[in-house]
Amino acid sequence: MYAFQFERATDAKAAVAKLKADPDAKFLGGGQSLLAAMKLRLAAPSALIDVSRIPGMADIRVENNEVVIGAAARHADVAANAEVRRRIPALAALAGGIGDRQVRAMGTIGGSLANDDPAACYPAAVLGLGATVVTDRRSIKADDFFKGLYETALEPDELITAVRFPIPDQAAYIKFANPASRFALVGVMVARTGNTVRVAVTGAADSVFRCQPLEQALSASFTAAAARAVKIGPSRLNTDLHASAEYRAHLIPVLAARAVEQALKG
Ligand SMILES: Cc1cc2nc3c(=O)[nH]c(=O)nc-3n(C[C@H](O)[C@H](O)[C@H](O)COP(=O)(O)OP(=O)(O)OC[C@H]3O[C@@H](n4cnc5c(N)ncnc54)[C@H](O)[C@@H]3O)c2cc1C
Repeated sequence: MYAFQFERATDAKAAVAKLKADPDAKFLGGGQSLLAAMKLRLAAPSALIDVSRIPGMADIRVENNEVVIGAAARHADVAANAEVRRRIPALAALAGGIGDRQVRAMGTIGGSLANDDPAACYPAAVLGLGATVVTDRRSIKADDFFKGLYETALEPDELITAVRFPIPDQAAYIKFANPASRFALVGVMVARTGNTVRVAVTGAADSVFRCQPLEQALSASFTAAAARAVKIGPSRLNTDLHASAEYRAHLIPVLAARAVEQALKG
């Protein structure tokens, strides 16, 4: 790890001003991705601006049929929050299934989304539930947020302050977890609100994506059988040491079917 400055921000405006003044500085959430990259010397920020203790930025509240989660909320806090568990149990379960206890105690939703790891769980929740990412300067719809491998719509000095999740009628997230890290080899979020079904897939490609064939099938019939009958081609999916593209393609409808079963159970 190279030497760096450390500062703890006390408000969002000041944190953003620090990054505007020094383009080599970076925000620090829970450090669960960034510190590992720094230890491997894959990242060498001049300064870390800790945004995880900005007052109010870890708050979780319900507002106008949305669950609003502050960007600095830790995974463990989202998993344990009574309102999240009651209004969007799938989201609480997803947060509770991230990594291990230590990762959940430190990692934040804002850090996870800004990092946009192709195998991360939160991107599937944000895209599948049709959430809105709120930053210090604008609101970004989930469909416009994820741009590619570790790439989002965020400007380099843009701070995520909260995420607004509309409350669905039914939803569930099922992942086939890497047994070592718990990252998703493939993870599928299914959410139904009225007649609209959204299906987001993580872990399978360069970035999280919506799966239209599954959305169409499940909009016509919200059943596990309908999900299982969908065939997904492997052509744009990842092959790595953990799984082939063909295996990932096979997993997508299988996990979607399990997610539908789970969502129907409530
Ligand atoms: C062993 C292990 C297992 C894991 N397993 C899983 C898993 O199963 N599923 C999963 O989804 N994830 C998993 N993770 C990743 C974990 O969820 C991290 O917490 C997450 O990727 C990063 O969040 P963080 O708060 O630690 O961000 P940091 O590491 O602090 O920052 C990551 C990036 O986000 C930026 N950033 C931080 N906060 C903000 C903000 N508010 N606004 C804008 N930019 C910001 C930073 O500058 C940096 O570029 C695992 C990590 C580890 C180490």
